Formats: sequence, structure tokens, C-alpha cells
Amino acid sequence: MISLPQAAYIHIPFCKHHCGYCDFAVVAGKDHLQTLYLEALELELTSLVNSQEIQTLFIGGGTPTYLSEPNLQRLMQMLGIWFKNYDEFSIEATPESITAEKIAILQGGGVNRISLGVQSFENHSLIELDRVHSVADIRPAIEMCNDHFPRVSLDLIFAVPEQRLEDWQRDLRAAVDFGVGHISTYGLTYEKGTPLWKRRERKEVVALDEDLEGQMYEYAMAELPRLGLEQYEISNFAKPGQECRHNQIYWANESYYGFGLGAARYLAGTRETNTRSLDNYLKKLFAGESPTQSSERLSDLDRARETIFTQLRRREGILRESFENQTGFSIDQLAGERLKPLLDNHLLIDDSVSIRLSRAGRCLADAVITELMAG
Ligand code: SF4
Repeated sequence: MISLPQAAYIHIPFCKHHCGYCDFAVVAGKDHLQTLYLEALELELTSLVNSQEIQTLFIGGGTPTYLSEPNLQRLMQMLGIWFKNYDEFSIEATPESITAEKIAILQGGGVNRISLGVQSFENHSLIELDRVHSVADIRPAIEMCNDHFPRVSLDLIFAVPEQRLEDWQRDLRAAVDFGVGHISTYGLTYEKGTPLWKRRERKEVVALDEDLEGQMYEYAMAELPRLGLEQYEISNFAKPGQECRHNQIYWANESYYGFGLGAARYLAGTRETNTRSLDNYLKKLFAGESPTQSSERLSDLDRARETIFTQLRRREGILRESFENQTGFSIDQLAGERLKPLLDNHLLIDDSVSIRLSRAGRCLADAVITELMAG
């Protein structure tokens, strides 16, 4: 059964600087196009026709809080027109872009959850990551967010070149010490074509040893729950009730809207992605055309297989009965004989109500999911 969208994602591509590892749809040095972009975004939103009732609204990027104050204000007004009744309204921010004035605008617009891209509390890692902020920017930004938003999340990256296990342990401890309710931890990836990937190709940078990366992830999985933040997804940890509902909608493989440069959406069983070219995005919308670049109508079987992929990321894994109600297939019908070796190797746990990744399985999540989807 295909559900009505309960989530909306809005992409703001502008950043002060394009970090060397980043493969998202971002633009730097094009601030003069911010106002035009919001005009185009508003045109794209008119495809909704009416104001939509949703549960979660999420503004990501890019750096949404890098928008100028008038543009941020305009974005809040625009979203207030097209969406209503949401109880979770998140925005992504960077430590150096947050100001008291912008926080006031976000609060006025109803934002109640902020996700801060801290990445590390060590300057040498921030330099390796090619970030524009330094450790000195982080404390005031988190304190401001803690003072003004009921829900604050911090993003951290591990397996940064030259990072030691003790650096990562200090990063986690520092994040927890701020008392935030949510922490996301991502292993650094070398996306093809990024400046970081090119540096690795030229041997100017050496990726961290895989075993050490595994130890860092294991440490987060052991330490954060001990400090009160339960792991509720492969990369995400939260205090009870602080889980990101918006991402939970993605992981459940339910429908969602997506607007803006490079944004993806999943509506009525069709996956669509917008163009990642800012020029193209603006041209299309001002010409009265759709910015959609790719569109794929999934078969029922493909949708069910995709649901295995997304739901296994969750702590609760795949709940047999609700999976069958949602997709029309049973998990055993789809993955039957491929489950056994993964269960025998203790990478998956099957308690007959659900199938989920074991702790060892979470360390090898991509390989386990690929194996399960094979064939
Ligand atoms: S601030 Fe975030 S979105 Fe912008 S370039 Fe850096 S990593 Fe990418």
C-alpha cells in the first residue's frame, strides 16, 4: 500500500565554501543567486496546488543558515504557506553561519530542531576535512542552539585522515558533554570526483586503516548508549523521544516530497530527482518546466526490495507483519534462502517478529544488505 507523503524535504544549495569531501548538490561563490533561487523554489512549490498537511519538514543543504537574513525570512514565509500541521521542523546549520538574528528568524518560522554540522572538535580534523569553521566557532554555536531549540543534533565524522582513536573518543565525549539529544556519526567517504578523492588518488592523503575505522564505529556503538543516546539507526543515536522523525520516514520507505536543487522525492511509488545544475534548475522553473531530471516508477517487487534495504538500517529492523502490510510481500518470500547464512554468521538476528542487524552486522551493514538483496 502506498502511503500519502508525511514528510517534505527542501534543499538550499548555498555554502560559504565547498568542502573537499562533499558530494552534495551545493554551490559556493554564487550568493548573488540566492534570491533568484528562492523565486524558483517558490515556483516549484506551486506544483503542490494546495497547502499540504505533513508530519515533518526538513530544510537541508548546502547550508540553509548561510542564506542572508531576508532570504531566510522569505524561506520561512514560503514554507508556512505550503505546509501545515507538521510537528517536527528541522534545519541544517554550520557553526559559523548561526547568529542570534538568524535563530530568531528560524524560531519565528516554527523550526524546532536544528542539526549542526560540527564534524569534529579537533582543529586538525577540521583542516583535513577542509571545513571553514574552527573549534572556536563550535561552543558558542551549540550553546545558542541549546538555548533556543528544544531539539539539537550534532553531526560528527570519523575516519578522518590522521585521526587517532583517542581523537574520536574525545570528539564523542565533547558532543555528549553539551547535553544534546541527538548525535549522527558518519565514516568519511571518498566520493569519486571530489577534491578529497583526487588528493587520495595523487597519494597526497592516506585513508585511515579500515580496522581503525571499525574500532571507531564500535566505540561509538558502545559509548553513546552507555551515555544515554541509543543507536536507533546505523549512523544515528538519540535520547528517548529525540529520534529524527523525518529520517525515520525515509528509513521506513514511506513517501515524501522533495523540492530544490538535486532534491529527491518518492511519490505514489515513483522516485524522482531534480537536476543538480543550478543554471538548469533556474532556467527550467522560469520557463514553466519541471526541474525533474530522472523519474523511475518502481514495480511492487522493486519497492519491496528497496524497503528491505532501508528498513534494515533501523534498530528495530524489518517488522515482518508491517513489512507485509506495506509491501504485499513477506520478507521470507523475498530473501528466504539468503537469510540463513547471515543468521548463521550472527550478522542478522531473527526473533520471528522482526529481522534486524546484529552489532557485528551493523559494522558490515553495506555488505550484509548487498548480500540480502543479491539475486
Ligand atoms: S558545508 Fe556541508 S553541504 Fe556545504 S560543502 Fe561543506 S559538507 Fe557540503
